[in-house]
Amino acid sequence: MRKIYIFDTTLRDGEQSPGVNLNTDEKIKIGLQLERLGVDRIEAGFPAASSGDLASVNAVAKAVRNATIVGLSRSREQDIDAVREALKDAEDPCIHIFLATSPIHRKYKLRMDKQQVLDNAEAAIRYAKKYFSKIEFSAEDAARTEIEFLTEVTQMAVDNGVSVVNIPDTVGYKTPSEFGEIFKTLKANVQGIDNIQLSAHCHDDLGMATANALAAILNGADQIEGTINGIGERAGNTSLEEVAMALETRNDFYKAKTTLNLKEIARTSRLVSKLTGMPVPGNKAIVGANAFAHESGIHQDGMLKEKSTYEIMSPGTIGLRESKLVLGKHSGRHAFREKLIDLGYEMETEQLNVAFKKFKDLADRKKTVTDDDLLAMVEDKLVQIPEVFQLDKIQLTYGNQSTPEATVSIISKQGKTLEGTSEGNGSVDAIYKALDTLTDEKVELVDYAIKSVSQGKDALGEVHVVMRQQQITVTGRGVSTDILEASALAYLNAVNRVIDKREKGHGGSRDNMSLV
Ligand SMILES: [Zn+2]
Repeated sequence: MRKIYIFDTTLRDGEQSPGVNLNTDEKIKIGLQLERLGVDRIEAGFPAASSGDLASVNAVAKAVRNATIVGLSRSREQDIDAVREALKDAEDPCIHIFLATSPIHRKYKLRMDKQQVLDNAEAAIRYAKKYFSKIEFSAEDAARTEIEFLTEVTQMAVDNGVSVVNIPDTVGYKTPSEFGEIFKTLKANVQGIDNIQLSAHCHDDLGMATANALAAILNGADQIEGTINGIGERAGNTSLEEVAMALETRNDFYKAKTTLNLKEIARTSRLVSKLTGMPVPGNKAIVGANAFAHESGIHQDGMLKEKSTYEIMSPGTIGLRESKLVLGKHSGRHAFREKLIDLGYEMETEQLNVAFKKFKDLADRKKTVTDDDLLAMVEDKLVQIPEVFQLDKIQLTYGNQSTPEATVSIISKQGKTLEGTSEGNGSVDAIYKALDTLTDEKVELVDYAIKSVSQGKDALGEVHVVMRQQQITVTGRGVSTDILEASALAYLNAVNRVIDKREKGHGGSRDNMSLV
């Protein structure tokens, strides 16, 4: 069976999504989960963007051992040197060099003619060749490049010994048949093309990223680049889970397969959504909450008689649990531990004790604790950021005829209890104003979203906030049985992240950084 290589760029292209700014710990967590998912290559970042980016790529390269780690680079020596530095500890390093080739980019961005583009790219590949045995070359905006010139550029890259030539539809412009035709033409006209891999990198501006990637596969692409949940700039990138499941479900048609561990798809999707703060729409293919829900009466009737009447994939394939075994306040430590192992979390005794205590508190406030509740609770502490401020108490007066007033107390890193009172337009506003006076951080709330983790009136509430302080944008998350407490927790979580980012100098702006 023909193998399709999966190149994940959640940590690079995905991280360029507006409002997303992952810290090093979060990148490592996602990198390790991508390794479990079995992706072949992980693009960990763009080391030349900032010293923080370089350090993150280096940390991911150290942590992940069973995937090729890729660093992005423009066609210039300083960038290539930054990737060398970032990947010096990688088990299997690869450099990804790009240069734009389309007429519009040549004219307005690069101010280079065709020959200059060829010469610059060749010089970069030759320089990188001294240090890397694996090189991927991307012709940025390849999809809008004259096919004759793209063939020439690809020939140059092949002649210079790259391992992969990537064809990006940088602006998400092509239709599947047009995009497929590019691969067919390169396959037919570039000498030695069978010695390298051809790769497709698509954007979803017209909703065709997955269709274009699949068309590329049908026409000879060996590798698909994309992200988990399809996150990325603008409308995002190809969703890797969609490509993997299309190849799996329609194997009869595509006759090609990935070697992904499909059962890790649901978990990877959830983790990426949590850490990036980007919710997955309910109707999103494969990983949306409704993707396997059959609501209508006719469908339900059919499903009960025979699943395949309406179900082309089984939720178990992507690791969604069908059993909804619940825990309650009488569940013991053993049952709790077994359940966590079942959900994929093996914990040290100390961590387990902390989690068990949280579970007991939760079970006191909520009749049944579902898998989703447990995951929300465990993943809450997945990434530790220094807690400069911790929530202590909230007291609130609210009436629909009066102005809400909140009294909030928090505990500082030095163990001091700070208390403040404020009025607001609503309860959340009152709490946030009170917190502002206590933390003394000038922050702007950019976005606030609330959703329930599970079903039922006593469901856990999960609040996501996006917060900005000058160049730094962060997301914060809080989970509680009470939405006002969850709101306060999310706010403090975000403030702690702002402080962490500022102190680590990760707030660098990446404006005007044109990328593949
Ligand atoms: Zn891209």
